[in-house]
Amino acid sequence: MPVKRLKERLRDGENIVCAEGYMWELERRGFVCSGDFTPEVVIDYPERVKALSEEFALAGSDVIEAFTYYGHREKLKSIGREVDLKELNRRALQIAKDVADARGCLVAGNICNTTCYDPSDPTCVAKSQAIFKEQMEWIVEAKVDFVIAETFIEFSEAKLALESIKKYGQGLPVVVTLSPHCQDTTLEGIPYPKALRELETLGADVVGLNCGRGPETMLPLLKEARAVCKGPLAALPVPFRTTEEQNNFNMLKDPRNGESVFPSNLACCQSSRADVRRFAEEALALGVQYIGLCCGSNPSFMREVAQVYGRKTALDKYSPTISRNFYFQDNPRAKTVREFLFGKSS
Ligand SMILES: [Zn+2]
Repeated sequence: MPVKRLKERLRDGENIVCAEGYMWELERRGFVCSGDFTPEVVIDYPERVKALSEEFALAGSDVIEAFTYYGHREKLKSIGREVDLKELNRRALQIAKDVADARGCLVAGNICNTTCYDPSDPTCVAKSQAIFKEQMEWIVEAKVDFVIAETFIEFSEAKLALESIKKYGQGLPVVVTLSPHCQDTTLEGIPYPKALRELETLGADVVGLNCGRGPETMLPLLKEARAVCKGPLAALPVPFRTTEEQNNFNMLKDPRNGESVFPSNLACCQSSRADVRRFAEEALALGVQYIGLCCGSNPSFMREVAQVYGRKTALDKYSPTISRNFYFQDNPRAKTVREFLFGKSS
């Protein structure tokens, strides 16, 4: 049965659940270098990428995003793998497409911040433009459902990406997300709601925020954006416990010793599943139509989000049921064991 496509679903008021965060989850599993953050695992261990894509699909993601994040010329050059550029992009798109087809999901191509962008230097702007064009050609060739352009800290680079998708994307729908960090504005000083509204005006089908901030510090910006934007809004925070003082994951400190934990020791600041569920509930109430999580996500977090958004997932049967455990039963032996494990007050 053909899958109902992105724009039809959004038009009909439906929601889209989209798993992101492939890079960080594969890093946690040992298959990405923290710091480089490049996706050569696509070529070196493609079955790992396929497995995670399948896990996200089973956990309720409606979308399989091709893992081409930082798989562009600039980043691959930085690790001496520029020669693999074309193969990496094609293989990543094929993996995503295969999993999406097998699981009845939508497949998305991906472009992101180029890392060489500098709006004050025309050579850098041209270089970024060439990177977008190059990746868009592979994305179009792969016949995806839509394109995700993500993690821009500058409105002008996001606009450049959107223009490239419009120019080379042969009409593919576009989701554009900006990454909020310390300030409530983009690097060039534009408030996020204004920047997102502008991207909508320029033709993005979905606009929103991804990465950078955790649920607690992204939500206030999302509320403002919801009031200003007219179309579907996207929200994909990092599942870490950001606070007013440490409002994005780059700033987080170890609660025990105050040491900086980005990027390798963030586990001590990880959101709980309850945090993730609460976020999804608030986002749903706010009218966020395109929902997910970015760096730090995993299949069990995605299952929480998908369940809140009304999905019946293949992994629902493994949802926690601690009350069924033997030591929670109502009998004297269970009580003895329970008190041994949890203390007398349990
Ligand atoms: Zn991220």
